[in-house]
Amino acid sequence: MSTLSELVNLKLGDVTDSIIAEYIWIGGSGTDMRSKARTLPGPVKSPEELPRWNYDGSSTGQAPGKDSEVILYPQAIFKDPFRRGDNILVICDCYTPQGQPIPTNKRAAAAKIFSQVEVSNEEPWYGLEQEYTLLQKEVKWPLGWPIGGYPGPQGPYYCGIGVDKAWGRDIVDAHYKACLYAGIQIGGINGEVMPGQWEFQVGPALGITAGDQLWAARYILERITEIAGVVLSLDPKPVEGDWNGAGCHTNFSTKSMRREGGFRVIKDAIEKLEKRHKAHIAAYGEGNERRLTGKHETASMNTFSWGVANRGASIRVGRDTEAEGKGYFEDRRPASNMDPYIVTSMIAETTILFQQNHPRCLSCQH
Ligand code: ADP
Ligand code: MN
Ligand code: MN
Ligand code: MN
Repeated sequence: MSTLSELVNLKLGDVTDSIIAEYIWIGGSGTDMRSKARTLPGPVKSPEELPRWNYDGSSTGQAPGKDSEVILYPQAIFKDPFRRGDNILVICDCYTPQGQPIPTNKRAAAAKIFSQVEVSNEEPWYGLEQEYTLLQKEVKWPLGWPIGGYPGPQGPYYCGIGVDKAWGRDIVDAHYKACLYAGIQIGGINGEVMPGQWEFQVGPALGITAGDQLWAARYILERITEIAGVVLSLDPKPVEGDWNGAGCHTNFSTKSMRREGGFRVIKDAIEKLEKRHKAHIAAYGEGNERRLTGKHETASMNTFSWGVANRGASIRVGRDTEAEGKGYFEDRRPASNMDPYIVTSMIAETTILFQQNHPRCLSCQH
């Protein structure tokens, strides 16, 4: 008699060409992820080879019961670290049967911005620092924290080690390797200032692929926490009080910023971001006002600021970038639960497309 884990690990390739494709999409809240699997006749190399599919949108808060069908368009594929072999994860976006993106599909509008020649010529790169908190399943309280109580104050936990400081490392490391296996450009991981909170980085990734990869990495993380019996939280301020919130710092550069004279282009971009501060804040994640207080390495959401090496500013420019006169900058405002399609495309729109009274500027009002 086989054990469950032996059956789960059966190698399909030994007996059939068929593969399993896990179709993944974003649900009605805009942050919940859903997925279901189907069998395909053989291995695939690109999302164009995959059939469209559909699901019951009335069960995800995305369509009325009377006309419930939502259509999935495959957009990006990754190797499946759970099923392995030729099996794949498929990041999809969602359309009505008439071919219109549904309201929670933020990828379609982002892809439009990234396909404009002014934008694609600039080869925009993104480095996304996803912070997240692991919670105990039964009480929804951070992993390692005493139930109904608190650990010692912040200080020893950031990049910390040891049984009294680092809680959840197996999950973090499993996720790190699973992302590399999948083909995600995961750049690193670290323990955070608040214990039970961790970070991984995706990038530098080009244009729309940054959003696709971050969503795939979030999906893999929630699947791993499911196995571990731990709850994944992307709440921007999981614990009130003297505890750091969770962000998704967004590092950004264009071709012109990365070459000689780039620092001037970076300063221009920061000026444009200042002009559209309110619009960006409004799009940078639900509940971000609980996090952007001006304390705990954040800038207040009501003021825009920037500085070299300043972790209390809205935008931080690294020392290397200043010294070399070219490079990238970090937008520290996005919350951990932000939609990377919205944030990455909006930064490109503001810094590359936006000019005063520019008719092609899509979402600014003036
Ligand atoms: P922090 O010091 O803020 O914690 P991290 O090392 O966590 O920074 O993250 C920095 C991110 O910036 C990484 O994902 C990295 O790939 C990305 N990055 C590096 N160079 C560039 C660049 N030129 N353009 C955009 N992103 C970049
Ligand atoms: Mn970081
Ligand atoms: Mn961090
Ligand atoms: Mn950062």
